[in-house]
Amino acid sequence: MKACITNYTNKRYIFYILATIVIFALPFIRVNKNHFFLLSFDHKKLNLFFVAFDTQELYLMPFLLILLFLTIFFITTLAGRIWCAWSCPQTIFRVIYRDIIQTKLLKIRKNIKDKQKEFQGQFVKKFIAGILFYCVSIIAVSNLLWYFIPPEDFFAYIQNPGEHMLLIGIIFFASLFLSFDIMYLQEKFCIYVCPYARIQSVMFDHDTIQVIYDEKRGGVIYDGHTKLHKKPPQGECIGCEACVSVCPTHIDIRKGMQLECINCLECADACSKIQLKFNRPSLINWTSAKSIETRQKVNYFRFRTIAYVVVLSIVFIGLLIASTKKEHMLLNINRATELYHIEKKNDKLEVINAYTFLFQNTDNKDHQYYFEAILEGIEGGIEIVSPSKPFTLKAGANTKKVVTLRATKKLANDDKKDTIIPLHIRAYAVDDENIVVFRESIFSYPKNTEFDKFKDEKK
Ligand code: SF4
Ligand code: SF4
Repeated sequence: MKACITNYTNKRYIFYILATIVIFALPFIRVNKNHFFLLSFDHKKLNLFFVAFDTQELYLMPFLLILLFLTIFFITTLAGRIWCAWSCPQTIFRVIYRDIIQTKLLKIRKNIKDKQKEFQGQFVKKFIAGILFYCVSIIAVSNLLWYFIPPEDFFAYIQNPGEHMLLIGIIFFASLFLSFDIMYLQEKFCIYVCPYARIQSVMFDHDTIQVIYDEKRGGVIYDGHTKLHKKPPQGECIGCEACVSVCPTHIDIRKGMQLECINCLECADACSKIQLKFNRPSLINWTSAKSIETRQKVNYFRFRTIAYVVVLSIVFIGLLIASTKKEHMLLNINRATELYHIEKKNDKLEVINAYTFLFQNTDNKDHQYYFEAILEGIEGGIEIVSPSKPFTLKAGANTKKVVTLRATKKLANDDKKDTIIPLHIRAYAVDDENIVVFRESIFSYPKNTEFDKFKDEKK
């Protein structure tokens, strides 16, 4: 094993910066006016991978949720709590508050390598730290909201706070809660509140990567919870406790794997600096329990991880297929409460059925729409009375159309009951042959006695 200083902490910071840039930039990037991800309840639309879906097309959501959970299971099985250390906002905000604001900027904490000592007094500096972090919280909460209220709307809304008090209230209280969490709950949130911390250990196996103290080299320090030696004579651990001082969750990793460990690897970095003086590698490693035991490389390709990759691929393909079924127009059909009515025109009796069609243009372009109505098993037989011609719908807009269909010939001959005839609607964009949807409804045709009433009237 090579003796060298591990630099996981700096690598984490670089990753945080890159992740923050991406998370901040994504809501501002638009392709064909669509966002990478936007779930807007205001506009009732979902943007996913720069494609616009209507909230009525939320059939994609189950795929996304399954994909999300499977990814979490897969990553946890493979790399343990990598999320907690490298991407979790809680960890990132703690670094911003504790390491940047409190330590680097205001020097409330004296040493970044000692996260154990609580500082006393310095009320003015603590107050300033609180104000600074509250500002960070406002920016972070706003950033989160941009995935639900697009930035182009968000900035317009906050310029009119009087009309958007709900939004202002959400920003104010969510920022307050975030500040409380980061400044007072601190890592207790990870230990006592976060559900992921509680369930992740069941996904671990012997090959899962974790932060592990090498007992074979360093020596046994604990017997269960009891510390055996202050300075172990039998191993390479010199008992300097640099790994303990630096730990943000106040644990001693030499005790073994613990729920509190967020895998930040700061202890590994600290130990690598100590051990370098003896030309030895760190006693704390980011590796698997099996690898430490056998001194072999970590086994990444095992049954569980391969199975996850296979299932993830299937769900991802399912998501792609489902998203290609996206309809560029939506159509909901509701029948009028009256089954039918009979009109007399030029001494002829006509049967009319009325419907309400809700058209929605979910495409990025304006389109002209119209439709055809076909009765099942009957050639011709009905005609569209209204709307009499195609109509234009702007991109993203919707409209209600009262549709009336008229029977042009006798469709049934029943003395006892009305006849229900299946009706097929083919709605389409006149200017784009690829935009077409099919819907089913019914056409009600009256029993013969209903026509007789009109004959009586004539008499
Ligand atoms: S930093 Fe390394 S040498 Fe020092 S106490 Fe921790 S494990 Fe032992
Ligand atoms: S023991 Fe502490 S310092 Fe080490 S990885 Fe876990 S949380 Fe980080």
